[in-house]
Amino acid sequence: DQSRLSKIDNLGTLKKNLSGISRPLEKATDTIKQGIEGCIGNTPLIRIKSLSDATGCEILAKAEFLNGAGNSPKDRVALSIIEMAEEQGLLVPHSGDTIYEGTVGSTGISLAAICRARGYKAHICMPDDMATEKSDLLLKLGAEVERVRPAPIVDQNQFVNLARNRAAEHTANPDKRGRGLFADQFETEANWRAHFTGTGPEIYDQTGGFLDAFVSGAGTGGTLSGVALFLKKKLPELKVVLADPPGSGLYNRVKFGVMFDPKEREGTRRRTQVDTIVEGIGINRLTHNFEVGKELIDDAIRVTDDQAIAMARWLVEHDGIFVGSSSAVNCVAATKLAKQLGPGHRIVTLLCDSGARHLSKFWANTEPIGGSEDDVSLNSILGS
Ligand code: PMP
Repeated sequence: DQSRLSKIDNLGTLKKNLSGISRPLEKATDTIKQGIEGCIGNTPLIRIKSLSDATGCEILAKAEFLNGAGNSPKDRVALSIIEMAEEQGLLVPHSGDTIYEGTVGSTGISLAAICRARGYKAHICMPDDMATEKSDLLLKLGAEVERVRPAPIVDQNQFVNLARNRAAEHTANPDKRGRGLFADQFETEANWRAHFTGTGPEIYDQTGGFLDAFVSGAGTGGTLSGVALFLKKKLPELKVVLADPPGSGLYNRVKFGVMFDPKEREGTRRRTQVDTIVEGIGINRLTHNFEVGKELIDDAIRVTDDQAIAMARWLVEHDGIFVGSSSAVNCVAATKLAKQLGPGHRIVTLLCDSGARHLSKFWANTEPIGGSEDDVSLNSILGS
């Protein structure tokens, strides 16, 4: 309204007078973000110097850990889910409505932070074998946290099913305060659309549309699908490559069209948990968010836990970049792809979250930097 506008104007004028600078006020206010939600998206694209120099390719990584609410790409998804629900009248800000979600951590942390900012409650169900930093953070953000044993998707206590059931219980119980919403990151369109409208266009703009390949792991698949759907429309020649940890069926899905390796006997198929120390990527079922972009994936690269751990150390040692397990998997796959394509190509990947969130699990597997493991060559990391 008019009186509020004039107050802002006065403040701006006052500031200008005080600093004696005559730059336009609009320019100054551009740098001021509207709450924590304003700090989501527009993340930097970093040229990873060591990997670029070693391969002769340009290896660029989108620093998604610099999203400012929950410090991962899931900030984009959480905000997209909440805004879509608000538009549909399923959530009302500052009403005390409760958002339920099944997550290995990142989505829960992003939801919990944005819930605080918008006056919602967060109820998070997660597997109990994830790094404790994630559940600790969730509790500090005031989320209700249920940690459950990892279980196959057919089990009603599997973390995603449990969250869906908790939301249904809430909705069915007239004594519960406010509405209950199941965020449903694996199946909701709001997930891949956040990357289709955010991450993808940002990569296109930041590279000026000059890139040869995009490499990413997939948990829900939202990042890979959303980015691929946007970039492939602009750049039909772009190579989209899945980075996949051990035990995940997605590699086989891309390579052979089925979730299990046809060379393996029936009895050896993995039906439960993904068998890796890596958190957040790799899955053994087809989600909507993977399905919607799966035809755009050209190839898949398997990355072992040892390779991921060695790459995480390499990035600290050479570049001062301290990341978590899925980022390390992405960088191994991007470097392997650079070797396949040969020098002169530009490859974009993602740094999803900080190593600080993985100190007690993924990073607990390494000696302190500066020890005897530090002279490893890139070729020994890549196993070539
Ligand atoms: N990295 C981390 C740390 C994650 O938590 C996730 C999501 N579970 C991903 C990568 C994968 O992203 P997406 O769900 O978009 O496939």
